[in-house]
Amino acid sequence: MFSFEDYREILRLVKESGRYATYGEALEREEFIIMRHDVEYSVDRAYALSRVEDSMDFRSNYFFQWTNNSYNILSRKNRDLLTDMHERGHMIGLHFALNGMTDMELIRRRIRQEMDMLSDMLGFAVNTFSIHRPSPAVLAENIKLPGILNAYQDEFFSFDPKAGPDSALRVKYLSDANHIWRYGYPDAETIAAHPRIQILAHPFAWTKKGYENEENYRTLIREKYAEMIDSIDGECKDFSPYREGFMGMLT
Ligand SMILES: [Zn+2]
Repeated sequence: MFSFEDYREILRLVKESGRYATYGEALEREEFIIMRHDVEYSVDRAYALSRVEDSMDFRSNYFFQWTNNSYNILSRKNRDLLTDMHERGHMIGLHFALNGMTDMELIRRRIRQEMDMLSDMLGFAVNTFSIHRPSPAVLAENIKLPGILNAYQDEFFSFDPKAGPDSALRVKYLSDANHIWRYGYPDAETIAAHPRIQILAHPFAWTKKGYENEENYRTLIREKYAEMIDSIDGECKDFSPYREGFMGMLT
């Protein structure tokens, strides 16, 4: 589970269904499958997953945070990666973090503000968002803003606080949160059984080899550590004598 090979199999099934749709297309269709990626921790892993999708001639939806503490989408390197993904046809959206906000008017205003700023900084229109760890209250609010699509609005997501994994909802939701597909796995049977599906795959969970949860975190932390070493090396001329020693701590 969670190898690029496994992911390619999911893409193959989604493509085969003939129902793959962007958020905008799904609005107009009775049947659809949407592929969504909420990006946590690592832009590099999102970029790698987008390359896997390219290899299958598949384009999907990547939602990035920018108020989180573990990556910066406006760094030169990451901005280049996002621009490249956008130019290759992937949709770049905002993964909006509530950061403790509960006032719905403020949340609406912030979403609009962050999307405007992102569009401005990235140089292309960002008009779709998903919410990071949405509260039941914000799901119930079913936020719809002019010219903006919300991955959790009722056309794409069925909110029922009493629903269990087997409840019959208008849109089937499949998510790999914490390495667990709590509402089912996107296999042939599940895909055939539901006319409308939104799949959420977190890019940090997927790698070429595919790891179980703890080992996946270990490899992720190593990548971030190596990134930190590169960052210092890029800034400080006097760092290079130590570089090898620090890299040695990774093995
Ligand atoms: Zn999230």
